[in-house]
Amino acid sequence: MTTKQQFVTLNNGNKIPAVGIIGTGTEWFKKQGQEEVISPELIEQIKYALSLPGIILIDAAECYNTYVEVGKALQQSNKSRDQIFISDKFSPQANDNRTVSESFERGLARMGVDYVDLYLIHCPFINREGYTLEDAWRELETLYESGKAKNIGVSNFRVSDLQKILESGKVKPQVNQIEFHPFLQDQTPGIFQFCQQHEIQLEAYSPLAPLQRKTQELQTPEGAPFYRYVEQLASKYKKSEALILLRWVTKRQVIPVTTSSKPERVKDAHENLFTFDLTDQEVDQITSLGLQHKPLRLYWNEVYSDY
Ligand code: NDP
Repeated sequence: MTTKQQFVTLNNGNKIPAVGIIGTGTEWFKKQGQEEVISPELIEQIKYALSLPGIILIDAAECYNTYVEVGKALQQSNKSRDQIFISDKFSPQANDNRTVSESFERGLARMGVDYVDLYLIHCPFINREGYTLEDAWRELETLYESGKAKNIGVSNFRVSDLQKILESGKVKPQVNQIEFHPFLQDQTPGIFQFCQQHEIQLEAYSPLAPLQRKTQELQTPEGAPFYRYVEQLASKYKKSEALILLRWVTKRQVIPVTTSSKPERVKDAHENLFTFDLTDQEVDQITSLGLQHKPLRLYWNEVYSDY
């Protein structure tokens, strides 16, 4: 049985799919200089996601070097543009000092689209003379006002970074995309609560981190009870362990952004996530068992490992 697709309303009243099923980073990521080495598997996987009914959220970023694959998949798909939610990111950490508008236009051209549905600043680390986070945010606001970015936001931002934007900006970020899963429930101190309080929608990347590390972590004393409990719920609801974790993310009011090289997993996340529900007690138990596990941080360790 499938249910109607679910959406989340952002602080500007716009809607976003409640799950992103096709991230184009992580396992698809290509190093700088490798951009022209096209991945046929990624094209096929995006096309497959676009063949599913409803609005499909594609998560892209400048530094993934996968715009060309996104563009080819869009070209070869029958889905109309208004049924596709494209999220892109300005990646100041790896973009040859391009400005926001240069990066943005380059992304549009490579993907072959004339607007994106969500545009994010990938991280708060802009180390450029005479160009600050506030300057970058002002450029995003201009894109938002022009209608070329339907929603704008940030990624990997700490409370202090968001405070800068909230104080200086005209538009409140609609989204903060952070690493979020049971083994990392506050990427940086207080960020979960701050975003909830300020109506900045959280998106979770690496929502399946515990499954990605299951083989190793299952052997640890704090890992074993967590995995046993997730397996128990998967068996109770007759769903995959991945769906149990993704559903937990949604129950915390966060939008999971996942990806897979396997069509059946993409389909499972799209079609089955809202065909069952976890009880409040089950959500709390995953939260609590996750907090008993030592923090697991897959990304941005070089800057956030001290937290
Ligand atoms: P996930 O936590 O969803 O992990 C995906 C991995 O889990 C894949 O390797 C996949 O392997 C595996 N997987 C998928 N489904 C299942 C399943 N049912 N059971 C077991 N394993 C499964 O997300 P990612 O860490 O890959 O991140 C998702 C996206 O988030 C990225 O592609 C990117 O777009 C974005 N991102 C953003 C970052 C940022 O700084 N803003 C940083 C990192 C990611 P398989 O292919 O074998 O299915």
